[in-house]
Amino acid sequence: AKQSGRNCFEFFNHNLREQAQARMDLLKNMRYGIEQKQFDLYYQAIVNLDSGHIHKAEALLRWRHPTRGVISPAEFIPLAEESRYINPLGQFVFTRALQTLTVLRAQVDANFQLSINVSPVQFSCLDSGIDQWPALLKAANLPPSAIVSEITEGLMIAPEQLTQQRLKALVKSGMELALDDFGTGYSSLAYLQQMDADYLKIDKCFVDNIQADNQDLALCKAIITMAHQFGLKVIAEGIETPEQQQLLLGIGCDYGQGYLFAKPLPEQEFLALVSNQSTT
Ligand code: C2E
Ligand code: CA
Ligand code: CA
Ligand code: CA
Repeated sequence: AKQSGRNCFEFFNHNLREQAQARMDLLKNMRYGIEQKQFDLYYQAIVNLDSGHIHKAEALLRWRHPTRGVISPAEFIPLAEESRYINPLGQFVFTRALQTLTVLRAQVDANFQLSINVSPVQFSCLDSGIDQWPALLKAANLPPSAIVSEITEGLMIAPEQLTQQRLKALVKSGMELALDDFGTGYSSLAYLQQMDADYLKIDKCFVDNIQADNQDLALCKAIITMAHQFGLKVIAEGIETPEQQQLLLGIGCDYGQGYLFAKPLPEQEFLALVSNQSTT
């Protein structure tokens, strides 16, 4: 028993060490990866559920690692946040989004709007560069409302004063705001009203199980009604079936995002997708 216990411990220990090593490797690679331009933005269509038109999209970060292939943001964003590499990455996301937006507005729709994900860490680090965003938009000849910042509910629960000030400044500049993953956290209605957000994104977990006459459908309906009363448009995430699309349209949802319409695509493929729609 003693022997096997010891083996167990060593196995456990070994695994932990391996995991820690993998994290360290990824961290070391991250700095190099930023320099080597291994990061790229993909774009996922946000579809107007009523008209089927696409004049919005969400920018999603991808890491093309030379040996590991494409690494998911779910894996590297937490590391980037801990290490503060999220700040240079966030600046890359913003400037890259502006470039794509310029092309989209010239070639597809003059009012095209892109959403970017902004980490709470970017709001709490003074050197994240977010305060320069309104000026960068202006320099690129784009109106502030061309960019939507997606923030999670986490940011809304007792935010630091600095975070609150900087968020307010972005909103005041005319940039738009979306509450991401709505329903998974604890944000109250009071925050919704206070933050003056423009969009509410219903999390995929609610969309997954909606079917006629069930509780998740009733919940989505209640969220949509409430959001509309606060003057927010609603985007449902993770729509994978025509049934989900129909049900959401039926309860007044404004926009949808999900594999049913399109997966996140590299810039050129996304451009091809949305250019086709404007000619048909
Ligand atoms: P998110 O902001 O909630 O983004 C939506 C995620 O759902 C994306 O995963 C997208 O690919 C996925 N998705 C969309 N439609 C469907 C569907 O129909 N079915 C399924 N199964 N999935 C769908 P992704 O790209 O892996 O991103 C994961 C998370 O990483 C994002 O969740 C966001 O929190 C974070 N993230 C991505 N890019 C950035 C970034 O530039 N900055 C920051 N701070 N976070 C980012
Ligand atoms: Ca998002
Ligand atoms: Ca606004
Ligand atoms: Ca989300």
